[in-house]
Amino acid sequence: MNFDKTQSDTFITVRQEQVLHLYAKTGLSFWGNSMIAIILALVLSLQTNEEQILYLFIWFGLIIATSIYQLILTTNFHQERVTSKKRIDYWARRYVTISTIMNIVWGSIGILFFPEQMLYQGFLFLSLLSVLLASVPLLALSRATYYLQMSVVLLPIGLYMLWIDDKEHYIMALALLVASLSLFAASNYIYDLLFELQTTQAELLQQANTDQLTRIPNRRQYEQAFKTEWRRCTREDLPISMLLIDVDYFKKYNDRFGHSKGDDCLIQVASRLGNISRRPGDLAARHGGEEFAVLLPNTSLENALMLAERFRISIQRLGIKHPDSKYEVLTVSIGVSSCHPMQHDQSNTDVVFPAMLMNSADNAMYLAKRQGRNCTATQGCGEQRIANILHEEALKDANKAEPENIPQPA
Ligand code: GH3
Ligand code: MG
Ligand code: MG
Repeated sequence: MNFDKTQSDTFITVRQEQVLHLYAKTGLSFWGNSMIAIILALVLSLQTNEEQILYLFIWFGLIIATSIYQLILTTNFHQERVTSKKRIDYWARRYVTISTIMNIVWGSIGILFFPEQMLYQGFLFLSLLSVLLASVPLLALSRATYYLQMSVVLLPIGLYMLWIDDKEHYIMALALLVASLSLFAASNYIYDLLFELQTTQAELLQQANTDQLTRIPNRRQYEQAFKTEWRRCTREDLPISMLLIDVDYFKKYNDRFGHSKGDDCLIQVASRLGNISRRPGDLAARHGGEEFAVLLPNTSLENALMLAERFRISIQRLGIKHPDSKYEVLTVSIGVSSCHPMQHDQSNTDVVFPAMLMNSADNAMYLAKRQGRNCTATQGCGEQRIANILHEEALKDANKAEPENIPQPA
C-alpha cells in the first residue's frame, strides 16, 4: 500500500518538475514570440496594402496579448506553490490551452496575409517553422497537442499554396510537407527520449526515497514530506501529529535468532504501518534501524494516540516469539507528539518549529521505554515535562552508580 503511494508520489514529483520547468521558460517564450512577430509584421508590412495593414496590426496585437496572458498565468502559477496532483494537472492543462491558442493565432497569418512574392512567402514559411520549433518543450506534457499545434500553424499556409494552383506553389507546398514530416519525425524521437528520461528519473527518485529492506518510504522522503505537510498545516491552521515507533529489545532478538530473522520482523512491522497512514497526507517511513516514524497531518493528539495504541496492540498480537522480552512476544514502544503550527506572523501565539515536534516524539518514545516498553507515551510540542522527567531519571541513575565508582578510603 505504501509502496504504491510512494510510486504515485514520485510520478507527481516528476510531473511537477516538468510543469515548473515549462512555466520557468515563459519569459523567454514571450520575448521570442514578440521578436518573431515584430520582424514578421515589419517584413510583411512592406508587401501589404493599407487595408491589410489594419489586419496585420490586429494580428500582431493578438500575438502580444496572448503572450502577456501567458506571463500573467505564470505569475499566478508561481504564487500558488502547487503540490497536489489535481492542481499540477490543472496548471498543465492551462499551459497547453494558452500555447495552443497562441499557435492558432500564429497559423491564422497564413490565411490573412499570404504575401504575393515568393521571397516573402518563404520568409513567412520559415518564421512559422521557427515558432513550431520553439514549441517543442510542450512535448513533455502532450505529444498529441504538439501535433495539433503543428497542424494549426502549417495547414492554413499549406492549403493556401495548393489553392493558388501553380507550379511554384505546388513546389512550395511540397517543401512544406517535407519540413512537416521531418518535424513530425524529430518530435516523435524527442518525445520518446523525454518519456524514457522521465521514467528513469521517476525510478531513481523512487529508489532514493524507498527503504530497500521494507519497501516503505525512507527517512529522506519522510523529512521532505514533513516539510511540505508542516507548511500546509501552518497555512491551513491545522494540527499535525507524529509517532515514533521503536521495536523493543531488538538487539536481543537479533542475538538469539540472527540478523536475517530480525530483518523479517522489521518487514512485518513495516507492513502493518499502512493501517495507520491511510489518508492522503499521511506518511509512514523507516526512520532508521528498528525505528519507524508516522506523519499524521490534520490529526489531533487524541486521534494520534488512538492510532498509536491500536498499532502497538496489533504488533503484540502478531505473536512473534521473543523469549528474551518480558512480554515473550515482539513489541514496540511508541512516542506520540502533536502540535498546532501557527503562522509565524501571528505575534500573539507561541511559535513552534518542526524540530520541536520531532524532539517531542523522540522524548515521548524514550519515556515509553522507561515506563517498561510495549506502551505509548506522549509529549506536547515544545513541552519540557518529559525532558525534565528524563533528566531526573538520569540523575537518579547516576547517583545509584556513583558509590561503586567512588574509590573507598584505605
Ligand atoms: P530498546 O528496547 O531499548 O529499543 O532496545 P533495543 O535492543 O531494541 O535497542 P538498541 O538500540 O540497543 O538495539 C537496536 C538493534 O537493532 C541493534 C541492531 O542490531 C538492530 N538493527 C538495526 N537495524 C537493523 C536491521 O536493519 N536489521 C536487523 N536485523 N537488525 C537491525
Ligand atoms: Mg532504537
Ligand atoms: Mg529498540
